[in-house]
Amino acid sequence: MPASPRTSGNLMPGFEHRVNRRKPDSELLDLRWQKPLGYIRFVLEDAARRVRESRAWFPRRFYRGDCHAHSQHSDGIGTVAEMAAMAKAAGLDFQYITDHWGLTHAAECRKHGLWIGQEPGAHLHHLGILNLKKVFVPSQNLADDCREVTRRGGIPFIPHPAGWWPSRVYEPEALQALTSLPDPFLMEIVNGANNVVSAFDYTDAAAIALWDKLLASGRRVHALGNTDAHSPHGIGTVWSGVFAPRCEEAAILRALAAGRCFVSEAPLLDLAIGKTGMGQRARQRGPLRLLAADARGLLRLRLVADGRILRTWHPNGKPFVRLALPLPKSVRTYVRWEAIAMDGKRGFTNPVYLT
Ligand SMILES: [Zn+2]
Ligand SMILES: [Zn+2]
Repeated sequence: MPASPRTSGNLMPGFEHRVNRRKPDSELLDLRWQKPLGYIRFVLEDAARRVRESRAWFPRRFYRGDCHAHSQHSDGIGTVAEMAAMAKAAGLDFQYITDHWGLTHAAECRKHGLWIGQEPGAHLHHLGILNLKKVFVPSQNLADDCREVTRRGGIPFIPHPAGWWPSRVYEPEALQALTSLPDPFLMEIVNGANNVVSAFDYTDAAAIALWDKLLASGRRVHALGNTDAHSPHGIGTVWSGVFAPRCEEAAILRALAAGRCFVSEAPLLDLAIGKTGMGQRARQRGPLRLLAADARGLLRLRLVADGRILRTWHPNGKPFVRLALPLPKSVRTYVRWEAIAMDGKRGFTNPVYLT
């Protein structure tokens, strides 16, 4: 059996008291949780600083928030208090806790300033629900559940529509089920489950491909970006930047339900056709107005329409791009705008729809 440092006698003189193994086990257990949490906190504080700097380039008012995370009230490992502390470090304006099996987290969420949702398992998908005061028990029909949640005054959304990191990939039947949902509906296009620092992975690339497919078929699908954090370490990796007049739950939910947000890991984005903004239908084919800002520099910008890339720009690290151009005649159903920053962080606008 290999000797442990505690008993090896191989230490240089005077170092006996300086190795971590000499700490009491209880203290080491605490450190093994607290240290990584502290490191992630530094990353989140830096991300918040970056957004603050980017705001100087971005003329729109928006609130940053996450509509999907879990605590120890279901399968998360963080307490509600720990999740709240990290959301604050990340500089988020709002954070929902959406535990899986009820609303036992509600009282603690109210105490710590977090907003309350739920995420029961439904037919072929999980079902994200915001703003319902009572536990929702899904049926065997996802479209009926969405309608029923809305009827009761809640806001339904589809989390991780194609699967989640690292290995859950939904079958075609699950993707097909989304074509039956009432129009418009809300869907995560970036989900950060089991990711830290960066949320975007192949399951999100699949969600975006699915989103473009639904949009190109004429469906209105408003996008959300949520961490699905199951630990405080996962908070803040992706968020929705909501164009609401104030940061109060009813105003934020109205804006989200109308698609008035962009989804981001860092870049700030806006898109309009004439005076018609994200989530709305353009009745006239006015000029396209595009905005992108990231204090750490923009690497690539893309305009996507009708399921294909229409145009690409390479800003070479510029922190701000503002463009006005005619809407190409070929565009039929929708147009959206996306960015990658110099360090690979991504952002996506919601679409403007064409009638
Ligand atoms: Zn889920
Ligand atoms: Zn979840």
